[in-house]
Amino acid sequence: MNADEARILKLRAELRDYNHYYHVLDAPKVPDAEYDRLFRELRNLEELHPELVTSDSPTQRVGSAALFAFSQVRHAVPMLSLGNAFEESELFEFNRRVIEGLDLPAGDLFGGGQSIEYTCEPKLDGLAVSLLYRDGLLVQGATRGDGTTGEDISVNVRTVRNIPLKLNGSGWPAVLEVRGEVFMSKAGFERLNATQMEVGGKTFANPRNAAAGSLRQLDSKITASRPLEFCCYGLGQVSANIADTHIGNLEQLKAWGLPISRELKLANGIDQCLEYYRDIGVRRNDLAYEIDGVVFKVNSLAYQRELGFRAREPRWAIAHKFPAMEELTELLDVEFQVGRTGAVTPVARLKPVKVAGVTVANATLHNMDEVARLGLMIGDTVIIRRAGDVIPQVMQVVLERRPDNARPVHIPEQCPVCGSQVERTQLVKRSKGKETVSEGAVYRCVGRLACAAQLKQAIIHFVSRRAMDIEGLGEKSVEQLVDEGLVSSPADLYTLGFEQIVDLEGFAELSSKNLLEAIEDSKRPTLARFIYALGIPDVGEETAKVLARSLGGLERIMAALPQVLTYLPDIGLEVASEIHAFFEDEHNRTVIAQLLERGLQLQDQGELHPEFAASTSLAGMIAKLDIPSVGPTGAEKLVARLETLDKIIAADGIDLRQALTIKQATAVREFFSVAENAERARAVEAQLREFGMHWGSEKKLVEGLPLAGQTWVLTGSLERMSRDVAKDKLESLGAKVAGSVSAKTHCVVAGPGAGSKLTKANELGLEVLDEDAFIAFLNKQGIEA
Ligand code: NAD
Repeated sequence: MNADEARILKLRAELRDYNHYYHVLDAPKVPDAEYDRLFRELRNLEELHPELVTSDSPTQRVGSAALFAFSQVRHAVPMLSLGNAFEESELFEFNRRVIEGLDLPAGDLFGGGQSIEYTCEPKLDGLAVSLLYRDGLLVQGATRGDGTTGEDISVNVRTVRNIPLKLNGSGWPAVLEVRGEVFMSKAGFERLNATQMEVGGKTFANPRNAAAGSLRQLDSKITASRPLEFCCYGLGQVSANIADTHIGNLEQLKAWGLPISRELKLANGIDQCLEYYRDIGVRRNDLAYEIDGVVFKVNSLAYQRELGFRAREPRWAIAHKFPAMEELTELLDVEFQVGRTGAVTPVARLKPVKVAGVTVANATLHNMDEVARLGLMIGDTVIIRRAGDVIPQVMQVVLERRPDNARPVHIPEQCPVCGSQVERTQLVKRSKGKETVSEGAVYRCVGRLACAAQLKQAIIHFVSRRAMDIEGLGEKSVEQLVDEGLVSSPADLYTLGFEQIVDLEGFAELSSKNLLEAIEDSKRPTLARFIYALGIPDVGEETAKVLARSLGGLERIMAALPQVLTYLPDIGLEVASEIHAFFEDEHNRTVIAQLLERGLQLQDQGELHPEFAASTSLAGMIAKLDIPSVGPTGAEKLVARLETLDKIIAADGIDLRQALTIKQATAVREFFSVAENAERARAVEAQLREFGMHWGSEKKLVEGLPLAGQTWVLTGSLERMSRDVAKDKLESLGAKVAGSVSAKTHCVVAGPGAGSKLTKANELGLEVLDEDAFIAFLNKQGIEA
């Protein structure tokens, strides 16, 4: 056997195996690009050695044999594949073959004469299906299988919502076999994977696999629950012809209620086909579904008949493919990057490879759980996917290509930047009254600001526009400041002098002065900005605002216990624990103290928000302890009977039984018999009290405020403050702010452009304030506007 022959046999075996995994198991082993390369190599070798072509070669066949789990359907007209073109030259070659095949006069060959009319359709990336209608009723659905025999998926196709069970109108042939693609939209695919993740089910690598896997289910209920769609692109067996062009057929199918592509177009000549390809290529990422190319078909059915078929594909159609979104490459190494919060993230260093037109050399691996899920080893051949603008991802390891010297990926014990210890993060969860701490997927360097990587990122975040907004200090300068030891915490920014700045790369006299001014100007941030600037893990702008608005002061925020923080809107125990741990940390406390010493003055510090006061009650606090079977109602009853936390903790079974069921009473006893639980509850209560709570009298607290019991309405536009701010200020004075005016309204604040609300207020003779009067009123109440 010569080398070519041996290679042919090897390629055939490999391609057959890949076909089986792709078409039968819906779990490809290698990316399409790799399959296509090997397929082409085989076809080229077979062209060199026609005597070696066998009828069972993958180049002569379509798909793979049907699964025996389904009953089989023999296709009256074979379901074929499509030839494909990757390069423009291959497309021109196809056009030349069409013209030659039709024996048209030579003038047509090189332009000038009439050109071939083609239909252009997107090549949807899903699964080919055949739908058989008899007398307008759907009687059978089948997969392509090996092109001759497919799987009977009649029950499943009926669950695809846009497949009509009965055709509209009239005039259809008695036997009408429609062919098309079942696919999943990008959004449907994302949703499905998210749900699968939640329920611990199988996730899919891409929408094609998801569509194929969903349609070929033995349980049609599963298929029905999947977001599948159908698009039709042709005919199989028909008892009577419909139109004399491909587009005519499709338009008629559409009239009968079958979905066809909205992108279907006619092209006059191959140049217009190319324009279509380029146009869709530009819009590819914006389409709701994935396509892997476009399909051009000779529009005239008479021409199609004349051209006929090759072994596995029609001579009158071609798929012009887009650059592949998945490619194979080698994982050269895994390096670890350290982020702002110390998270140590594995990053894949890849042998550079072109994916969808862009060279990819790195890909994030997210965390060590992801590395474990992929079963990744250094030296592995991996599949990289780059879809649209999404950052490249490592999708899968090609296990059979794992080299003998592959090495496992270990998280470093020491931070690669500063050498501090690397620790696994902790997750705090509360369930049935118990707080459990488990290990998270993220590892963190404990070096904090002693770690140059974290320090740089922390300062870049600190000075950023939405944080302290120090203009003129770019990433490069921050790196230089840290590398030269001029700055070892955000507080050091406020010690920088002209001499130090002017020496930085890219700085001159004027820019140095400007930067110094910007640093000086940043010294009066709002409390919310300052909290955000600190870069507490998981605390974004919104959470920072909530903290500032609800607790009103830095000291309170720094002291707040995690359980107290969970009273604030949208703060769960995990984030609350992060916030608490951040402020417990000695180093962070020192930096904050230094910042204040170096002249930082926080604005907008005030009182506790009345909403926060209203949201806390002893009963509410007890309900939040998660004592098994004691919900808000049980907690209310308990407090109504026993009044104080001390009494509840000390209560015996008989006392508790007066308020609760036996089960609840036992649970309460058990809960508080754990010293740690009782202690924690007392600490939370004490802190809430310290923050100004008066159990059971929170109404009184609001009642003590000047606008308690009043309803105010804001209308029109205010020029000196936003309506939200005005609302906050009114609420902090105890008023309720309503959206509509009624006889019960106490006062209306009306800015320019006020309409019907103002008219109504005047009709009712209510008090109306304009913006100036409103601000004067606020000032009188001691509130700065
Ligand atoms: P194909 O998918 O390239 O083209 C034919 C198919 O295109 C049809 O069966 C139909 O389902 C679909 N199609 C979509 N829109 C269409 C339209 N408007 N008109 C007509 N048909 C349309 O060919 P194939 O033979 O089904 O499979 C080969 C493809 O599958 C290649 O892209 C190959 O890379 C991939 N494959 C990959 C692996 C792997 O291991 N990764 C294995 C086998 C096949």
